[in-house]
Amino acid sequence: MAARGESAFRAKQVVEWIYGKRVQDFADMTNLKPALREALAGEFRLDPVLPTNQQGSSDTTRKFLFKLARDGRYIETVLIPASPGLYGDQADRLTLCVSSQVGCAFDCKFCASGLAGLTRNLDAGEIVGQVIEAERIAQDRVDNIVFMGMGEPLANFANLTKAITIINAHWGIGIGARHITVSTSGLAPQIEKLADFEVPVRLAISLHGASDEVRERIMPVNRKYPLDRLFEALRYWSTRKKQKITFEFILIEGVNDSLEQAELLARRSRPLGAKVNLIPYNTVEGLPWKRPSVGRQEAFFRVLQGHGIPCTLRREKGHDIAAACGQLRLKQETAEGIVEAPVKA
Ligand code: SAH
Repeated sequence: MAARGESAFRAKQVVEWIYGKRVQDFADMTNLKPALREALAGEFRLDPVLPTNQQGSSDTTRKFLFKLARDGRYIETVLIPASPGLYGDQADRLTLCVSSQVGCAFDCKFCASGLAGLTRNLDAGEIVGQVIEAERIAQDRVDNIVFMGMGEPLANFANLTKAITIINAHWGIGIGARHITVSTSGLAPQIEKLADFEVPVRLAISLHGASDEVRERIMPVNRKYPLDRLFEALRYWSTRKKQKITFEFILIEGVNDSLEQAELLARRSRPLGAKVNLIPYNTVEGLPWKRPSVGRQEAFFRVLQGHGIPCTLRREKGHDIAAACGQLRLKQETAEGIVEAPVKA
C-alpha cells in the first residue's frame, strides 16, 4: 500500500477482508475505491488453492486434494478430528495437516510423497491457503496445524516461516504457536535456524530409526545428518525452547520394530525429555513395507513405557482414503499423466 501511495490503514482493511471476512474476490472489498480493487485484482489472486474431489473417510478424517491455481499441480491437506495427546492439547478438536512442497526431494524409502521427486516449493500463500480453504469446506475453525503433509518444510524455510507468521498472527488465522507443529526428516542446520525463529512452534522429528544403521536404510537424509549431528541440533533446540520435542517413529515390520530399537529409542529420548509417537506404517501401493502385528507394536510400546518415556501408539486414521503422506496426489497426477507411475523394486 505504501508503494501505491495508499495509507497503512488500507493494508489493514485488505488484511481484514482476507483473513477476517475471508473474501476471495477483490471486488467484494467494498470499503476500497473501485480503482484500487481493480489494480489489486490485476496483480494478485486470493484463491491460490482450489478444491477438487473431496475425500471422506469412515473414521471422520477428511482428506482434501487441492489444485494449485498457479500451475495446476496437486497437494494434499488432511483434516483430523480430536486426537487427544498427539501434538497439541487434549482440548484440540480439529488438527489440519498441511503440505509445504509439491513432492519431496528427500526420498524416504517408505513414503509416497518423494516417489516422483520434488517439483517445487509452495509459496506462503499456498500454505496459508490450505488452512483457509479447509476451514471454508469444513465450516469450522482449525485448532491445530501440523506440517506433516507433503514435502520437507525445513527445505522451504523462507516460505514456511512467512506462512507460520501469518497463521500465528492475531490479524491472520490466529492459531497459537504451541498449536503449530513443524515436522522434519532431520535437517540439522535448519532445526537450529528454526530454534531462533521468533514464533515458538513445536518440533516433531521423523526419527524412524534409533541407530544410524537402521535409519540410513530408510532415510537417505541420515547420511548427510547422522544421528549425532541431528541430536546436537535437538540439544540446541532444547536450550531455546520450553516445549518438549516429539519423535515420530513409524513401525515397519522387520525394519525398525525390534525391541533393541525400542531400547535405543528410549535411551535417545530420555535426555531430551522427548515424547514418542509410535505410528503403525500405512502401506503404500508399489512399496514393499508392511506394518507389524498389533502384538509386536504393543511390545515395542511397552519397552518405552517401561523406561518411563511419554509415548503413544497411534490408532490408524485415514487408511481407507490413502491418507499416508503423498498417496492421493500421486494417484491424481498419475491419472492425469503429470507424473509417471512409480516403479519400485
Ligand atoms: N518431511 C517432513 C514432513 C512430512 S512427512 C517429515 O519427514 O517429517 C510427515 C510424516 O509422515 C513423517 O513422519 C513421515 O515419515 C510420515 N510418513 C510418510 N509416509 C508414511 C507412511 N506410508 N505411513 C506412515 N507414516 C508415513
